[in-house]
Amino acid sequence: ACHHYAAPRYVAHEVRMACEFLAHFLSLQMAAKEAAENHEYVEHLSRGHKELVEIMSQADDFMSGLLGNEEKFLGWIKSGGAAFVVNDEIHLTGKTPNAEAVRSILDLVNENTNDEIYTTNKLPLADLSEHAAGVLALRLSIHLPHFILWFRPEISQIVNWAGDPNKPVETGEFGDRLTPRKSFDLWIEEVAGKSEAWKTCEIEAAADLRRSIMEIVARKAESLADLNAELERSNVELDSFAYIASHDLKEPLRGIHNFSHILIETYAAQLPADGREKLQTLMRLTQRMESLIESLLHYSRIGRAQLATAKVDLNILVQETLEMIESRISDSNAEIIVAENLPTIEGDEVLLREVFTNLISNAVKYNDKEIRRVEVGFSDAATPTFFVRDNGIGIAEKHHETIFRIFKRLHGRKKFGGGVGAGLTITKKIVERHGGKLWLESVPNEGTTFYFTLGELEKI
Ligand code: ADP
Repeated sequence: ACHHYAAPRYVAHEVRMACEFLAHFLSLQMAAKEAAENHEYVEHLSRGHKELVEIMSQADDFMSGLLGNEEKFLGWIKSGGAAFVVNDEIHLTGKTPNAEAVRSILDLVNENTNDEIYTTNKLPLADLSEHAAGVLALRLSIHLPHFILWFRPEISQIVNWAGDPNKPVETGEFGDRLTPRKSFDLWIEEVAGKSEAWKTCEIEAAADLRRSIMEIVARKAESLADLNAELERSNVELDSFAYIASHDLKEPLRGIHNFSHILIETYAAQLPADGREKLQTLMRLTQRMESLIESLLHYSRIGRAQLATAKVDLNILVQETLEMIESRISDSNAEIIVAENLPTIEGDEVLLREVFTNLISNAVKYNDKEIRRVEVGFSDAATPTFFVRDNGIGIAEKHHETIFRIFKRLHGRKKFGGGVGAGLTITKKIVERHGGKLWLESVPNEGTTFYFTLGELEKI
């Protein structure tokens, strides 16, 4: 700078010319260097894009892929932190403002533009410059509030200036002249609250990422649709299997049954006692097979048939159920307590009656107490939980899942007058078709409570 406190120095013409030449040369070099650096960065962005697409395609969803690779993501479009916004959910990675501040940034973005991309290197929001002086917001959906936000801190926070910015500024003989120290102050003032600006290549890279995310989401949706079609096909196959089971298998079964009957009626006298007994067993087995086929058919129908939904007053429905199984209840000396004011809900009356029939029958059946006590109730919540509680034999924890399998019985046919083992499987299916869940709590020898919900159905 040629300044000197004592003697002014004069610079010779040749030296000045040489300096000027040097300065020209330097500025040319700088431009070339800048272009080279930019080129390198563009290369880095395109390489990173490919890697991120790879990561997103392999992950369950694009966001968990990006969130799981924080370093790669934040090192891509250079930033201190990022936020992924999906509706009300905000996932943060790296150095970011808190979720609440991210929401106010989103408000600002929405106020400013509906475009895919919004950038600023000086957010007009107080107190965020430590992590988010600047933001690049990428809008992923036109209709839904889905965004990716990149944050950059204030520049002065990241530049490691060689001098000591706190050293007092000296005023020279000619007053406040431009000195390195002075220019640093000016620079600090100029960049206060500002982040490094977003380069065009970075904005283009973000737009490219958006396109890739759209493609990945569309591809996932396509494969889901394929999967659905596949499921539909197997449902149709299951349906036709059920049809074959009911019509084609039932017919020969009927034949076997009838012929065994004729054998017993007509030729019993010619057979030894042992032979007659075997024929009786044969008839019993065919009957049993028939009821297994019937249950399978019933089960597959429940899975497929359209629900006939209507308003159902559960007080009436449970009373009707109890009337239907009245003889079973009185035969087994059971006491049934039903809660008052059961809600009226939207559902398939016939199927819901089957749920209560199955659960109450089981509660009475699998019970060895002198007085078999069964309680039917519900918890009054937005989505009520219904329950059927008994003081019966209970179910060991290891069977809590298996009892819902079709044809699974924990007891021999003769014990507790067991059925075919399809009741709970069918009950679970009906509850699930109504959008609900079925589960149980049980203490062996003390009793069991089956709970179920009927989904998000509105109470009426
Ligand atoms: P089943 O037609 O044999 O009653 P379910 O599918 O209804 O078949 O039940 C399956 C098995 O779960 C039954 O065999 C029984 O062992 C057990 N179980 C069902 N309900 C109860 C209950 N309330 N208490 C104890 N055991 C039960």
